[in-house]
Amino acid sequence: MTAPLHEAHPAGRGRRLPDTQQGMRRRNLARVMHTVSAEGPLSRAAVASHIGLTRAAVSTLVDELIRSGLLEELGPERPGRVGRPGSALAVSGRGPAGIGAEIGVDHLAVCAVDLRGAVRARAVRNGTNRGREPAAVIGELTRLVRRVVAEAEQEGLWPAGLAVAVPGLVARDARTVVRAPNLDWHDTDLGALLPDELPLTVDNEANFGGLAELWLGDGTPRDFLHVSAEIGIGGAVVVDGRLLRGTRGFAGELGHVPVHPDGPECPCGGHGCLEQYAGEEAVLRAAGLEPGEDRVGLLAERAAQGDEDVRGALRDAGTALGIALTGAVNLLDPETVVLGGALAGLAPWLLPSLERELARRTAGPACAVSVSRLGSEGPLLGAAHAVVRAVLDDPAAVAERAQDSARAATHR
Ligand SMILES: [Zn+2]
Repeated sequence: MTAPLHEAHPAGRGRRLPDTQQGMRRRNLARVMHTVSAEGPLSRAAVASHIGLTRAAVSTLVDELIRSGLLEELGPERPGRVGRPGSALAVSGRGPAGIGAEIGVDHLAVCAVDLRGAVRARAVRNGTNRGREPAAVIGELTRLVRRVVAEAEQEGLWPAGLAVAVPGLVARDARTVVRAPNLDWHDTDLGALLPDELPLTVDNEANFGGLAELWLGDGTPRDFLHVSAEIGIGGAVVVDGRLLRGTRGFAGELGHVPVHPDGPECPCGGHGCLEQYAGEEAVLRAAGLEPGEDRVGLLAERAAQGDEDVRGALRDAGTALGIALTGAVNLLDPETVVLGGALAGLAPWLLPSLERELARRTAGPACAVSVSRLGSEGPLLGAAHAVVRAVLDDPAAVAERAQDSARAATHR
């Protein structure tokens, strides 16, 4: 699910126990965290029965998680129950936070999300990043990250890691942007440009958008295609609750699936890619509008007013999306296609032609199409939640870091 983050948190740094016991302890700590996160607040006894361990074993694990600031006790459970009253456990709202960042073609955004999933701090800078030097953009992003971290720290949180969503292809090292055509960045090592104070993972914005849908969406199934748009079109393929990454990490590039092989040239080097018909700028051009600041807002407003040029352009974009998605649906047989990002706000005018193409062209029964409620927030939230999920998946690694930094602080 979040492979790069796992790679960023080396497992098995055993100190006191032999490897197998240490591995078991790590896994059980993760099970306790996931149970309280998904089902909490819960008593220790309820956690024990959920994961099938003895209450004594669970208490030891819970005490360790409380000491590390990952769980907290909310006070006695409702009185009057048989036996000693237990204290309800909840995931801490003052422990580690995931820092998510997004480099858009036209904006930068950063947020801090606590272990309960609440956004606790955020900062946004609007303005184009197209053609700017990566170092200048990353310098600006770093200032936003530090501002958000400082704000989170004032609320008693500490940053467990930084995840950055980018509009381009990211290598499997989870730090190098191989190619971001709409920024004109090539082989850019963000790890070298960002300060190394936080564990870092970089991923394609569409991947984070798809993961956000999986983790935060409304009844999202475990097999789906997520399609989103900014200037480019991004796709993410989720199979059995896991992101399909491909050999080099480039899977899901739906925007560069050819719709008309003889169509206009695309920054990727191909011709007639989906992006040339359904990307925001392409739709504006087709509708005879100038690309301005709020492209989606303008299109939605005009379409709602009944502007036939805009409605026609969106219908054609829906047709192009339907043609490109047919290939993916025939190949992968997902349960649904989820429209996210800018496409979510334009769905009323895209969906009829998109669904018609899918129904006409897919081999089996037509695949359902739904609209994400996360909209353009998806990639940023997905990035921050990827860090949070990594904490839940391996709380021991985070606890060790928390204890190391507390030790360092007392020796200072
Ligand atoms: Zn292309």
